Amino acid sequence: MKDPAALRVLHENRYHATPHIFVAPGRVNLIGEHTDYAEGFVMPAAIDFATLAAISPRNDGKVVIYAENFGEERSYEANALPSQPSGEWSDYPLGVLAILAGEGYTIPAMSLSLWGDVPLGSGLSSSAAVEVATAVAVTGMMGVSIPGPKLARLCQRSENEFVGANCGIMDQFISANGAKDHALLLDCRDLSYRLAPIPADVALVIANTMVKHSVAGAGYTTRRAEVEEACAVLASHRPEIKFLRDATVADLEAWGHEISLNALKRARHVITENNRTEAAAEALLANDMPTLGRLMHEAHVSYSKDFEGSCVEADTMVDLAQDLPGLIGARLTGGGFGGCTINLVESSQAQTFALALKERYQKATGITPEIHICHASAGAHAIS
Ligand code: ADP
Ligand code: MG
Repeated sequence: MKDPAALRVLHENRYHATPHIFVAPGRVNLIGEHTDYAEGFVMPAAIDFATLAAISPRNDGKVVIYAENFGEERSYEANALPSQPSGEWSDYPLGVLAILAGEGYTIPAMSLSLWGDVPLGSGLSSSAAVEVATAVAVTGMMGVSIPGPKLARLCQRSENEFVGANCGIMDQFISANGAKDHALLLDCRDLSYRLAPIPADVALVIANTMVKHSVAGAGYTTRRAEVEEACAVLASHRPEIKFLRDATVADLEAWGHEISLNALKRARHVITENNRTEAAAEALLANDMPTLGRLMHEAHVSYSKDFEGSCVEADTMVDLAQDLPGLIGARLTGGGFGGCTINLVESSQAQTFALALKERYQKATGITPEIHICHASAGAHAIS
């Protein structure tokens, strides 16, 4: 993460007030892609890329928000905050304020400085980190304590209802509730969760393909529509199927011929991914790394072939990792169409793995990737 002491100085120089500092992490999803909005299972871990928020009260009735990543400041009247998005970075913190106001909280005048090192738009959820950092900072200053799962839901609502991005609950949930050295198996239906320790001899190697294809936004929307289409057909036979989480591979075999080919493939990904994710959590809890690695590989193939949510660069990054020493499992992580792959690697091999993968990818694509050895980190909290 960025240096909290440097953010403190920056905030003090701008606002002449001593701030409280909070942090909220980005995340990597080990397995369970596009299952969250099907009310299924996901298994992310919070990472040591994070967004910091420095906050102090003001006495002029204003809400002033500064984003160090953009070098930009925005100023509003606390009692007349925008109710519509502007399409800028400020929508993310403002959305959180709007949702908190909608919940009946009076938003106080404040100076809020944000600064993060989660790469933007790379599938590591910089957006959730900014939302959750804002939420913990603002509620912290207000002296209000909101439990992590509820805070995550409020932040998801701010992205859905204010920013206008139709995301599931995973990103905000893990940013708010992650635990150091653990992955978190989340049931997106009732938000119950289990923590699974990541063994000390296993490293999280995150490889950024450095591409984000322009179809990403539209692709996400079409995929969600296809998933819903398949779900509606299955529900017409078994009304207890509310979301694909309730459906089985046997349902697809019985009624798949009534579903359009693309919707059928998307549904097959979601249903099998849900099964894989539960199995992966069992494998991690049992310290069965070969099984976890195999499931991650199957998940990538399903994501790429059935969901068609990958891209040439991400498939290349996954393929090039396969025969490198120490690899346990590799797959594209996050919303898709580019971004990062997650590689579980034996810790003793992680450095050489990262260097070799970088070289191979550069040679194959002409693009210099960013490869990071990350650690599973704690969820959002105050920094003393
Ligand atoms: P991601 O996969 O990183 O979540 P999104 O497109 O969902 O990608 O969110 C990225 C957007 O979130 C950025 O374009 C910016 O508007 C906002 N954002 C992320 N990090 C910061 C930050 N540190 N400061 C201000 N805004 C940020
Ligand atoms: Mg996001």
